[in-house]
Amino acid sequence: MIKVSDLTLSYGAHRALENVSLEVDRGEICVILGANGAGKSSLLKAIAGMEPTTNGTRIDVNGLSIVGLSTDKIVETGLALVPEGRGIFGDLTVAENLKLGAYAKRARASEKQNLDKILQIFPKLAERRTQIARTMSGGEQQMVAIGRALMSNPDILMLDEPSLGLSPLLTKELFKSLRDVRDSGVGILLVEQNAKQSLAIADRGYLMENGHITGQGPAAQLANDPAVQAAYLGGATPKQQTPMAGLLEVEDMGETNTLGIDAAALAARAHKIQIGFVKSQRIKKKAKKATQKLNAGKKPNSKNRKKAKLAKHLKTIIKAAKKAAKANAKI
Ligand code: ATP
Repeated sequence: MIKVSDLTLSYGAHRALENVSLEVDRGEICVILGANGAGKSSLLKAIAGMEPTTNGTRIDVNGLSIVGLSTDKIVETGLALVPEGRGIFGDLTVAENLKLGAYAKRARASEKQNLDKILQIFPKLAERRTQIARTMSGGEQQMVAIGRALMSNPDILMLDEPSLGLSPLLTKELFKSLRDVRDSGVGILLVEQNAKQSLAIADRGYLMENGHITGQGPAAQLANDPAVQAAYLGGATPKQQTPMAGLLEVEDMGETNTLGIDAAALAARAHKIQIGFVKSQRIKKKAKKATQKLNAGKKPNSKNRKKAKLAKHLKTIIKAAKKAAKANAKI
């Protein structure tokens, strides 16, 4: 189990976390809910030894203090982190990414069993063993990232916003797999903005505001708490859901659609949401991915030509979105 007491972290003069205490046992899912900037990512990085904490901080994994240990030594104690953005090796295959996860000494003897367990939880990874990781969809890449972390045979797995960029459907599937991970005996510390779905799979939860833990309780109790509902489950939409909603349909539309149809669907959706979002980096990234998928069948002659093609498609999508927004505005 992991027990964190009085964890304090400062970035220069800015105190990002103050006296944070929490614990996670094996075989349970604990979610940390908090708004942007509350300190959730900083907390996971501090626990994983990636940010230095101040005196007084105690972090014990299975009874051993890990404060001040290097990240690789921390992994050896039984803690693994799937960072925000996944951090997989895009140019390596699925199998190679998984293999890298087994580098920890504690994992070497049980590499085969761990791999079998992971492929059982994520059967798609078995089908895609030889696929280059960067050519996979966002949801599949998240599976690779979680699979790689599980290959280190952790007792506690920490995940930073695994649902970021995934459709509600893919998020549901991913969270279902996290339940399977929990049921295999691993404890999960999950940082999420997607309060509704994460509370639905969690056993317990912590609320975080401005670097402090401001509440905690069983997940079901938090989900029914009016204050939690108002802050996380009501009007306040998780940051990734609003802009993503329009895009995920593009991914889900299937690869047989022409780019024109995707662009039109995206445009209509984008207007419904807010035209400003079309310009956001995330949407661009998703749109780019969608075009990449559509182009997957074609073999470009050179890298540059491919890049140019993608840029052109992206421009078409944004142009179509703007046009649709204008047309709708007139109605
Ligand atoms: P989000 O969901 O938006 O990622 P979060 O709850 O994960 O938010 P953090 O990323 O941990 O929040 O950030 C907590 C605070 O610490 C913020 O005010 C942020 O600006 C600040 N912060 C985070 N990383 C650094 C850094 N490397 N240097 C300086 N300040 C930082």
